[in-house]
Amino acid sequence: MASAGPWEPFDIDTALERVRSAIQGYAAAAMFELAERGHASLFEQLVACLLSIRTRDEVSLPVSLQLLARAATPEAMRRLGPERIEALIRPVTFPEPKARTIHALATRTVEAFGGALPADARVLRSLHGVGPKCAHLALGVACGQEYISVDIHVHRVTNRWGYVHARTPERTLDALEAKLPRRHWVELNRLLVPFGKHVCTGTRPHCATCPVRAMCPRVGV
Ligand code: SF4
Repeated sequence: MASAGPWEPFDIDTALERVRSAIQGYAAAAMFELAERGHASLFEQLVACLLSIRTRDEVSLPVSLQLLARAATPEAMRRLGPERIEALIRPVTFPEPKARTIHALATRTVEAFGGALPADARVLRSLHGVGPKCAHLALGVACGQEYISVDIHVHRVTNRWGYVHARTPERTLDALEAKLPRRHWVELNRLLVPFGKHVCTGTRPHCATCPVRAMCPRVGV
């Protein structure tokens, strides 16, 4: 009977290199896909991340594209108003509160920041409805700032690897900030979201064909 492994010591550089190869052919995480389609401003990335909360990329991506086609700037979004925003984003979860949050974000950006969001994590995290996941991801994708964004996929995979041992995404973020080499901070989310959706899935992960299997202790699987 084959050993349950792991057979190789875990190495984060090697693991991420294997993940990088494995996810080719899968759709990119929504925020990175949006940036590639020209919606790469800090405001657009933050709006898209708010829309993606508790909503699958397959739903939030087309909704983001539809909304941003109508209003890509804070001023245009402010003028659109919460009711019309809600009508455009109805397929995502919680459209009414999300519309109010997005409209308030646009209004604050125009009135307090002269129409341009500051590229500052503390300022972004102080805005209503914006948590560390969205602030960090938007700053990473839009501004190239080195931040780690931990969603449920990043949390699950890094804990199964035994790379961190944390009960919540917030604790995983703290642990990763203390351990992960900075060169991987922005890319981690881009790699582990599709990997978590298609390989290291929440239920029945595809360990038998996983490229990281040889070094993965499969914690909790
Ligand atoms: S799919 Fe299995 S072997 Fe691969 S990373 Fe996830 S738990 Fe580890």
